[in-house]
Amino acid sequence: MSQSYDVVVIGAGPGGYIAAVRAAQLGFKVACVEKWRNPQGELALGGTCLNVGCIPSKALLASSEQFENAAHHLADHGIAVGAPKLDIGKMLARKDAIVSKMTKGIEFLFRKNKITWLKGHGRFAGTGDDVYRIEVSGDGDDKAVQLVEAKHVIIATGSKARHLPGIEVDNELICDNEGALALPEVPKRLGVIGAGVIGLELGSVWRRLGADVTILEALPNFLAATDEAVQKEAKKQFTKQGLKIHLGAKIGAVKTDKKGVHVAWTDEQGDQQTLACDRLIVSVGRVPNTDGLGLDAIGLVVDERGFIPVDQHCRTQAANVWAIGDVVRGPMLAHKAEDEGVMVAELIAGQKPHIDYNCIPWVIYTAPEVAWVGKTEQQLKSEGRAIKTGQFPFAANGRALGMGASDGFVKVIADEATDEVLGVHIVGANASDLIAEAVLAMEFKASAEDIGRVCHPHPSMSEVMREAALAATDKRALNM
Ligand code: NAD
Repeated sequence: MSQSYDVVVIGAGPGGYIAAVRAAQLGFKVACVEKWRNPQGELALGGTCLNVGCIPSKALLASSEQFENAAHHLADHGIAVGAPKLDIGKMLARKDAIVSKMTKGIEFLFRKNKITWLKGHGRFAGTGDDVYRIEVSGDGDDKAVQLVEAKHVIIATGSKARHLPGIEVDNELICDNEGALALPEVPKRLGVIGAGVIGLELGSVWRRLGADVTILEALPNFLAATDEAVQKEAKKQFTKQGLKIHLGAKIGAVKTDKKGVHVAWTDEQGDQQTLACDRLIVSVGRVPNTDGLGLDAIGLVVDERGFIPVDQHCRTQAANVWAIGDVVRGPMLAHKAEDEGVMVAELIAGQKPHIDYNCIPWVIYTAPEVAWVGKTEQQLKSEGRAIKTGQFPFAANGRALGMGASDGFVKVIADEATDEVLGVHIVGANASDLIAEAVLAMEFKASAEDIGRVCHPHPSMSEVMREAALAATDKRALNM
């Protein structure tokens, strides 16, 4: 007889494993299907984020920042260390150890919450009396195919790198996120297609370690989704650091030979160019993972972009089948997937949670970091909304100066009449942590004056948020 569960989650990335944990906390009998194998061939929980995404990239960003500080910035503090020597093997091993610790951490959470890990690929095999049948391929040690039943199914299968036609990713010479996190040596010349989150983060890692990095971006605007003030400042900083960013680039043929990779491209003026590089990263977005899920067995069809259609509560068109994270509409962000996982588990339990998608923060972990929440000045103006803005530079903040992190600013946008915070945009060190205050403020519908009147520790980077809020309220920043 097949095992039956209250909830089966397919996929154990940040959306899926969190959904499983929350469902178990709420008293359900839960299983989670996951087939990921790490480069050592071991089955691993955590999905893209933990294995080949957020976590390893942050480890390499931190290591490469240390290297750059040692090479260029320790002298500013009166510390002479000589030229630092890179041990790339050790740096990659440190990253792998962090990944392993984190993925093993989820195994612990599964044991603690009595969640069954069904090892293998899960696919819908049909329906029964108020249950869904799910077949799990035999990737576990016993290799046996399992059939399980579930009252509720949460699809959390994530996404995979989008590849461009005619550009074959081998993760040796031409890499997506997976290969780009494991280059065995620093390439002399690194090409990147796509100046999005991955292109900028991994481009920064390898530039800091010594690569000459050229990024080709199709759009005419840099970081088109961000506020224009952020676009300008970020482009200025990244260019100053040595990233060569070409906008409006049209990619042509990409060829590889013994000398490396040759990318034919057309620049904004329509002139033909060639980028010769030792390695190429293709980071042009991601596509949802629905291959082999057997959606047709339960009457579900994906939309024209491959996403599973859901309502604002992540309900699919099949009763008691839910879908969360990268496989549905909305930003492809781990924390959005996590929040959807919690929401769905609580909805199954009869609670009434909801997500305000306008309050999901974005972060790019470059240096300076870029983070934002809510709408940009340009979006609000195009909606005809009367707004006021306040901007305050880190250069006028004592803590930032002490840290040697005086680049960038915080910009607060508020409603002209009510002073409600509508968007907060940060370029600067620690933006990923600072943005959390803005998210909280917006979730509570705070006014800019509310942020300005709250006591902030001195000296701290968070004072810049307060000053920008005061500047938005009625131009009354105290230190400018
Ligand atoms: P992205 O959507 O952030 O950026 C892709 C970029 O490639 C865009 O600027 C796009 O205009 C450009 N592009 C698309 N086609 C192109 C072409 N043919 N030629 C040149 N440029 C082209 O995607 P990504 O950087 O690949 O990241 C994938 C996903 O992973 C994103 O959704 C991102 O949110 C997520 N991610 C998030 C983080 C984070 O939160 N810090 C980090 C890494 C990845």
